[in-house]
Amino acid sequence: MYVTERAPRSGPRIAIVGGGIGGLAAAAFLRRAGLTATVYEQASALTEVGAGIVLAPNAARLLRRLGVLEPALRRAVPLDWGWEFRRWEDGRVLSVEQLTGVCEELYGERTYTIHRADLLDAIKSAVPAEQIRLGARCTAVEEKAAGLRLRFADGATADADVVIGADGVHSVVRGLVAEPQPPAYSGVCAFRAVVPVGAAPEFALRRAQTLWIGPGRHFVHYPIVGGQAVNVVAFTPAGDYTDESWSATASVEEFAAEFKGWDPRVTDLIAAGDVPGRWALLDRAPLPHWSRGTVTLLGDAAHPMFPFFAQGAAQSLEDAVVLAHCLAAAPDEPENALAGYEAVRIARTTRLQEISHGRSDVNHLPDGPEQQARDAALAEADPLVANGWIYGHDAEQLPVA
Ligand SMILES: Cc1cc2nc3c(=O)[nH]c(=O)nc-3n(C[C@H](O)[C@H](O)[C@H](O)COP(=O)(O)OP(=O)(O)OC[C@H]3O[C@@H](n4cnc5c(N)ncnc54)[C@H](O)[C@@H]3O)c2cc1C
Repeated sequence: MYVTERAPRSGPRIAIVGGGIGGLAAAAFLRRAGLTATVYEQASALTEVGAGIVLAPNAARLLRRLGVLEPALRRAVPLDWGWEFRRWEDGRVLSVEQLTGVCEELYGERTYTIHRADLLDAIKSAVPAEQIRLGARCTAVEEKAAGLRLRFADGATADADVVIGADGVHSVVRGLVAEPQPPAYSGVCAFRAVVPVGAAPEFALRRAQTLWIGPGRHFVHYPIVGGQAVNVVAFTPAGDYTDESWSATASVEEFAAEFKGWDPRVTDLIAAGDVPGRWALLDRAPLPHWSRGTVTLLGDAAHPMFPFFAQGAAQSLEDAVVLAHCLAAAPDEPENALAGYEAVRIARTTRLQEISHGRSDVNHLPDGPEQQARDAALAEADPLVANGWIYGHDAEQLPVA
């Protein structure tokens, strides 16, 4: 039997299922708000797979207030240019966000690329080790006469008053608040590779998030780990490929074949990389609700999104801070607190899910009139300003009830 902790003096017993970026952030922000939560993570160690992600100002400001931004940034790269859209064939710049001197002025924080493991480690440092149970795979959450009971694969149980499902796209907890349904295959798959600094062309070491768009696919790269490597991630049709494991690999030749005929700066980068990972992207439609009673969802469990606006982890941090505020404001009425959390968050995350999904069609247009119209629109827009509703959002500025 595990014991779900409660805050020293009072407060509900809060169980968080999942110790990824979202679950640990929830525990850290709850702690800052004076509440105690226990994180149940299935893995035997807290690690993040994958390499870099982009940390936008809306995420950076929350980490700064938690006091973990500086350690997270030890090996990060502050970007000078964000979303530098280029044409697949010749690299013509279609649009670019000028970040240096502008991003901070507009949004109070810079945009960084950061290694996922560095981000997780920094958030973890804000959660006492005794609040994290490893090797605890939750298999079910049951409603009891008073409270909730979590069941684990090893036969253990834990009782709690509030359960937060931060257990990712395959969430077990989701089945309590929505029709239990597995995620669908999206028809898109991702390739990922890391290119060490010695093998990376100068072009790819610029502090830019470069995004090459072309028929049916797109290709993204940016420097990571203090400029010691380049993170490459590309999205192509999945065909009948359905393996969604982050440890599945492809060959460099398979990756290169997807970008045959593209600008040599793309194909050279693929050739310089290590063995690429390959996984099928999953898809879920936005949920109309993600709380029921004293059970709620957070992060990818609530709103998985295509990574085309680089906002999935950022949204899980925003969820975490809002959830903590709502529960701390009404610790004796957790049901109302969770309803309030959902009400604050759901419209924004639904919009991000929808635009991230739509970006797939826009990025992948075949050459022709629609692509020309898209390129003209990209040239006219200032994406840093157009995306102000994403980057400028301060999740702690809650609407007055
Ligand atoms: C290619 C790619 C690029 C991305 N780039 C960016 C980016 O640049 N910026 C950004 O903000 N986001 C990005 N994202 C999105 C981001 O990675 C996710 O949105 C984020 O990691 C979600 O965090 P989470 O904690 O909600 O879920 P997860 O990271 O999926 O964590 C879930 C945790 O729950 C655990 N778990 C699962 N089931 C159970 C169970 N039954 N019992 C106990 N534990 C369980 C898992 O082991 C895991 O630790 C990207 C995603 C991809 C795929």
